[in-house]
Amino acid sequence: MKKFIQKQINKYRNPFSLVWKWGFLLTIILFLIAAIWPIATTYNSWQQDKNQYEEDVSQIDQYIIQRLNQLSEDSQSDIEDLFQKKVTITEESLQDELHNKDMNVQVFSENQTQRYHSFNENLKPAIDKGAEALEKTQNQSVRVETIYHEDQPFLYYVRKTSGNYLSEVKQNLIKHLLITLGCLLFICLIVAFIVALSFLSPLQKMKRLLKTINADNISDLRLNGNHYQGEMTEISESINVLLDKMSAFIEHQTRFVEDVSHELRTPVAVIEGHLKLLNRWGKEDPEVLDESLTASLHEIQRMKVLVQEMLDLTRAGQVDVQFADEQTPVRDVVQSVYQNFQILYPDFNFFLEDDLKQEYQIQIYRNHLEQILVILLDNAVKYSLDRKEIHITVSVEAIDYIEIAIQDFGEGMSREDQKKVFNRFYRVDKARSRERGGNGLGLSIAQELINGYKGSIFVESAPGAGSNFHVRLPILRLNDE
Ligand code: ADP
Repeated sequence: MKKFIQKQINKYRNPFSLVWKWGFLLTIILFLIAAIWPIATTYNSWQQDKNQYEEDVSQIDQYIIQRLNQLSEDSQSDIEDLFQKKVTITEESLQDELHNKDMNVQVFSENQTQRYHSFNENLKPAIDKGAEALEKTQNQSVRVETIYHEDQPFLYYVRKTSGNYLSEVKQNLIKHLLITLGCLLFICLIVAFIVALSFLSPLQKMKRLLKTINADNISDLRLNGNHYQGEMTEISESINVLLDKMSAFIEHQTRFVEDVSHELRTPVAVIEGHLKLLNRWGKEDPEVLDESLTASLHEIQRMKVLVQEMLDLTRAGQVDVQFADEQTPVRDVVQSVYQNFQILYPDFNFFLEDDLKQEYQIQIYRNHLEQILVILLDNAVKYSLDRKEIHITVSVEAIDYIEIAIQDFGEGMSREDQKKVFNRFYRVDKARSRERGGNGLGLSIAQELINGYKGSIFVESAPGAGSNFHVRLPILRLNDE
């Protein structure tokens, strides 16, 4: 038990934690609501007790005055008797009743000789000067009455209450009220913290789970939405989406590093082999020297291209942030790339089929559109066989998109390969592609760029018949017909 309490205290040690904040806030709210009832009833009791006391005092006054009126002239003993008489249901004498009720009652004869007193404080000054003659304290009241016999003053009745009785009643009521409020506060504190803990326990669960997450288990650990309700379910779902993204990102990064190191291993091994060869015999043999240096330079060139392509691939993933406001006239770019390829590959026949009725602006950075077209045209050239013919078609697709299709009549690819060619470092025929200088990154870069600009790319192909790559990019709606 001690351990459990210690654990709970450690768990919520932070004084700014939501449990404390909500716990105290709820305590205050509950306490304020719960305290209304005892405060109201105490106030009510106080009013009732006060009224009752005033009524009792007045009744006793009436009773004594009535009795004094009935007395004969030489009635000293009768006065004493009167105050010794039992008058109430509590079986107490009038004198005791006066003491209980804090009533200082004094009776004076017509010559102002004191005939009876229930308390010592002398009330004689009040006979002539009235109630004002007596020292006033809180809640005190004074009554002065003259009893006549045959129209002559016969006795004087003076009564004073000092307010001690009511003060005592008040103190008792306040004492009870404070005890009740103390108990209530304690109960509210417990209830509030139980409620706060139960409300916030899903958050604690989330916190515990998130603390245990690391790169190794991020793909397996997820929050269970069934454990939560309302907004908590939405938050847990959002966290799960975030975890999915982070997991995919980590996986992506890990795979990328693995792929890169794998890809770099071959050129490094080739260069190392040639350098070893040179070291052993090549220095003296100009033929070996020449061959090894040429091969090493070729591999270094490949590595340079590979590093540049990897850099392009990484940057391609961020275009949506960096180039969000760029616009490019599509027709203009397609025509200039088409002309460049005609000059670069004079042995190829390039055909441009421009189905656009006007120039269209698309939201893309010009260099990126050129890069995509160059990648696709380079591949079309690289993977063409005897029929050296390439068709470039530009058209409007589904009203909102520009479609650029690049078709060759080369080696083509199987359905299986069509799904994989956009993966990084994927090459249908690794050796042949390497021979042609391919790293398997071109289509990945193109796809990353196109996705970044909210477009799409796909391929139609058949082995031996050629391939047709389709790029679709959204039209900027400024230039419509
Ligand atoms: P690479 O630099 O190797 O060409 P890509 O990512 O551009 O890398 O292409 C991936 C693979 O897809 C290529 O290795 C090739 O096997 C295949 N490929 C791409 N374009 C074509 C095409 N036009 N015809 C046939 N195969 C192609």
